[in-house]
This record gives sequence, structure tokens and C-alpha cells, in this order.
Amino acid sequence: MLLRVLGTAAGGGIPQWNCACPSCTGARAHPARRRRHASLAVQAADDRWYVVNATPDIGDQIEDCPPLLPSPGTRQTPVAGIILTDAELDHTLGIARLREADAFEVLATAAVRDALRTRLHLGTTLAPYAEVRWRDLPHASPIALGPEPWPEPGRPTARPAARPEAVPAATSTGKPLVEVSAIPVSGKRPRYAAAGGGQGPGAGGPHTAPGETAEPGSADPGHEGAGWSVALRITDRASGATALYAPAVATWSAALADAAAEADCLIVDGTFWDDEEPIRAGIGPRTATGMGHLPIVGPGGTAERLAALRARCLYTHLNNTNPLVDPDAAEHRRLAEWGIEVAADGMVIEL
Ligand SMILES: [Zn+2]
Repeated sequence: MLLRVLGTAAGGGIPQWNCACPSCTGARAHPARRRRHASLAVQAADDRWYVVNATPDIGDQIEDCPPLLPSPGTRQTPVAGIILTDAELDHTLGIARLREADAFEVLATAAVRDALRTRLHLGTTLAPYAEVRWRDLPHASPIALGPEPWPEPGRPTARPAARPEAVPAATSTGKPLVEVSAIPVSGKRPRYAAAGGGQGPGAGGPHTAPGETAEPGSADPGHEGAGWSVALRITDRASGATALYAPAVATWSAALADAAAEADCLIVDGTFWDDEEPIRAGIGPRTATGMGHLPIVGPGGTAERLAALRARCLYTHLNNTNPLVDPDAAEHRRLAEWGIEVAADGMVIEL
């Protein structure tokens, strides 16, 4: 299994456009300290990749990752689709950047998919440009990624007619290399999809727009507490090697603990170093935990849990208030003592 780290920053990136804090100023002075929004590319077949979360940086992230570059013909891209861990704007705004494609897949839970359709109106907005193929990201049994996901058992064989000028989003003859499933990590909704606000997710069904193809039978009214934020378990079908990607961890649930214990590599929420960091930095009244991110250290911190695992563990999704964004910070030595790494943009992980 081949993973490419496309970005490692929390919302805003580093530097953040409207911020002159020491971290952002330092990143402007030292470009090597810059971090793009957290994202990961997963190789699904020889020439087929999926991008985990579509950030506002996705265009640059693709350009800087050679395996994701188009080839050989006009409009032929190895990027087959997007897998979403949640519906947050920092993880979904990049979907609109892909409108030049004729078609691409978006794998998401029902809650996330309905938020994007009914609150952001992403389906109807993109329909005149590109065919968005929504696929259900399952909690229980994993699904294979590529090379030809349509049709699958139980799915109607009728496929929307391609537009005459359509060029396949990806062409691949290889067998699927990996499978993916979701592990719920929190019921935290994006602010734009707050509960009870107007026509919410599930309020009016799946809202399939012309040009969209919908997962049959996947309308899921309510979604209370389920599927708003998930971790991804990505498994190599040949070797059984497993990676766990969890850029937002609100609670260390039993399901997440089980998945962590079985994983060979974990890439985990490192948004905040300690629980008081957001308050101390003056970015808001809530603690890290209150913002839906377990801190790295302190009570309930994730470092102790990760240090107890034999797997390779890396932190990602660093906020610009996190001291770890400074490569000279003493906190790096503490992490090294626990055997934990900080993921870097451009990192290649082979399992
Ligand atoms: Zn800043």
C-alpha cells in the first residue's frame, strides 16, 4: 500500500492568510515550515488514486504529487475520486475545484453526503459541470477502491450515459489494491449544518440533481450522532497491512481503540498540543476537547495511547497554534521519546 501525505495542517493552513502569529510569520519567513490543509492520497490500483478530503489546496497538492499528475492524454487523470472523513469546509471546498473533470467519485457517509447536497448545494451546483458519483462509505464491511467500482453487486447495472465528449476520469486495468471502511469518531456537525437549521440533512431526501448518480437506498434521515466525522481504515488486500487515518478525534472510542490496535500505521489528529492551547492562544473560548479534538498531551491526550502501540504513529492536522509547527520546538523531543512522528507534507508511506 502506498500513501502520499498531501498536507498536514488544520483549518487555515500554515501560514493562514489573515494571521501574523509567530507560527504563520515563521512559515512566511521559512517556506519549509509551510503546511497545506491535511490530506492524503491513497493508491487504489496501478494508475488510480483517491484523495482523502478535498481541501482548498487540492489543485496545488495534486501538482506537487507526481503520481497524481494527468497522463498520457488530455484530461486523463489518475485521480478517481475523493474520500471524505467529514463535511467540514476545510475538507470539502476542494470538491468544487474538480469541476473540470467529466466525472469523479465522492465517498462519504450519508450524513456528510446529505450535508453537502442540502446545505452546500454541491450536487446541484456541480451538475452542469461534472458528474459526481456519490458512493456510500460503509461503517461495517469495507469496500474496494477501484479500478472499476461501477457496477457492484446489488447495484443497478444501468449507468448514466457518458456525455459524447467524455473522457474517463481514470483508466485502469489493475486489480483493486486496497479497501476502505469508516469508523465513527464524533457526531460533531460543521457549523453550516447545525442541527435544526432550515432544510437540514435528511429533511428532504437525497436531492439527486441531474448529472448526479446516487447510491441507491442510502437516504438516511436524521444522522443524529452518526457518521458526521469518521476515521478511515485502509487495508492492503494482498498483504493485510492496515493504515488508520483519523484527522479529527473527539473521543477515543472502543471502536477506534480496536482499529488502532490492529493498524500498522496511524495518522492521527494532532491539532492541538494540550487542551488549553486554543484559549491560551486567544483563538476562542473552547478547549481543544471542546472543539472536537483530543489534545496530544495531558489528561485524555492521545500521545500515551499511541506510545503504547507497536504501530508507526504520526500526527497530522496541526493547528497554527501548535508548538510542533516550529521544527526547533522542544515538544518534538518529547514526541520522539514516545516514538511518535509528526507527518510532513510530501511524505511517502509504504506499508
Ligand atoms: Zn497564525
